[in-house]
Amino acid sequence: MSISINLLKIKSSLPSTVTLVAVSKTKPIPDLMEAYNAGQRIFGENKIQEMAEKWEAMPKDIEWHMIGHVQTNKVKFMAPFVSLIHGVDSLKLLHEINKQAQKNNRIIDCLLQVYIAEEESKFGLDEEELAGIIRFITQNNEIYKNIRIVGLMGMATFTDNQNQIKKEFTHLKSIFDRINQLPTSNFQLLTLSMGMSGDYQLAIECGSTMVRIGSSIFGGRI
Ligand SMILES: *Cc1c(COP(=O)(O)O)cnc(C)c1O
Repeated sequence: MSISINLLKIKSSLPSTVTLVAVSKTKPIPDLMEAYNAGQRIFGENKIQEMAEKWEAMPKDIEWHMIGHVQTNKVKFMAPFVSLIHGVDSLKLLHEINKQAQKNNRIIDCLLQVYIAEEESKFGLDEEELAGIIRFITQNNEIYKNIRIVGLMGMATFTDNQNQIKKEFTHLKSIFDRINQLPTSNFQLLTLSMGMSGDYQLAIECGSTMVRIGSSIFGGRI
């Protein structure tokens, strides 16, 4: 099936409250342009260099989301244009994003990545670390004027066990709800980024507001 048909099928199946990030990592510009011409305006990449090259080559009304793990020393390469950074997992990184956003006269939206999987390899914060970061940013909001924490992101364990995945997504949703009730935070988290090609329907049932879908749109990656 073609990219545009895949895209339109998925889009029509999503509730209107759920935002689709088309994950185009490793895919060439013509593939992205096919999705663009079918109306897609939000693309997700996991490498800063690759995202910057695609940003330069593509139309400028696209929102670029960084969905991969971010190294502090590379933030400067995306700070001029990135719309949302999904994988923020430390104060050090938030500090650098704020600094680079300031240099570019921008406010950059960020999601804090929460660790929900049973795998060792997934990045992210636990609930206590998360609450600590939110408290710190709230207390120092005069300094962190150029970032906005708008939500949370998480990845479930890579498994066929639907119960396991559902448990992890439900856990993330409950953290999201609790953080929104904290008296210490003066902002609302609106975005809950969870769900990929294999598990997005389940993620939506569990309260996702943003799904990151790659292979079901663009085909498998090598
Ligand atoms: C690659 C990637 C996706 C998309 O994965 P698919 O299974 O191809 O849909 C989503 N989120 C993150 C963080 C990714 O790295």
